Amino acid sequence: MTKRIARVFPRKTTATPSDELVFFDGPGLFPPEVDEVHVSVTFSWDIPHAEWLARQWDGIAPVRIGGPAMGTKGKDFVPGMYLKNGYVITSRGCPNCCWFCDVWRRDGRVRELPIREGWNVLDDNLLCCSEDHIRKVFDMLKVQKKNKRQVEFTGGLEAASLEDWHIELLREIRPKQMFFAYDTEDDYEPLVEAGKKLLASGWTVASKTLRAYVLIGYKRDTIDAAEERLRKTIEAGFTPMAMLWRGRDGKTDPSWRRFQRRWARPAFIYHILKSIDQEVLPDEE
Ligand code: SF4
Repeated sequence: MTKRIARVFPRKTTATPSDELVFFDGPGLFPPEVDEVHVSVTFSWDIPHAEWLARQWDGIAPVRIGGPAMGTKGKDFVPGMYLKNGYVITSRGCPNCCWFCDVWRRDGRVRELPIREGWNVLDDNLLCCSEDHIRKVFDMLKVQKKNKRQVEFTGGLEAASLEDWHIELLREIRPKQMFFAYDTEDDYEPLVEAGKKLLASGWTVASKTLRAYVLIGYKRDTIDAAEERLRKTIEAGFTPMAMLWRGRDGKTDPSWRRFQRRWARPAFIYHILKSIDQEVLPDEE
């Protein structure tokens, strides 16, 4: 018999599942009948609240607290369990050791998982998997595409690992969006090269399919330097998504928050895109 597991989240995001065993608070006066309670923590600044939640559920069923923020090594992916249906993780870990990232500390080098169904791929570094695994992931995605799902790569594709055969596979899938990254200076040259290849393969800047996470607001970063990186991202062919760096306590500076919000607004980015290249963009709908 399948276990009934209550999943308790300290924060609701667009990726949080929404079935009847998902909770954001204590069990209330009429607790559900469950075999286990899993408190799942994504962000380190939610840990104190998650620990409070774990205490509220104590006594209802055995409680476990885990998730990326707790440094828990990820297991095989179960669709719909800790992420909404549609999200899928086919591998965990990364061979790189970026200073701001916990993936390599938590999950080590790349580990390929059994491939489950989904259309929003969240792997830490899919392009570092074996060719056999990547081709199987794309076979699964082709089925999603046939079923009218819009494929996305929001976990991030590493520009430095992008090869011509990956581009062929991406062309067959035609994702709604795919995120690359410009987090450190080392990322820029590979991003430019990836941009050239992808634009030459038929993608356009105007489609905003080519996206890039841009890390901002870390120690010694300045608004001017961050803005330059965001503009350079556009010049490389990618619509940027500013990601504000947060330490373990999650605290951020108000001026950085304002700047980040501006660079996450599609209308604002569109305005910058237009000013950079009048040729590539049609009039906004
Ligand atoms: S490449 Fe991405 S997943 Fe890998 S360590 Fe760097 S930020 Fe983390």
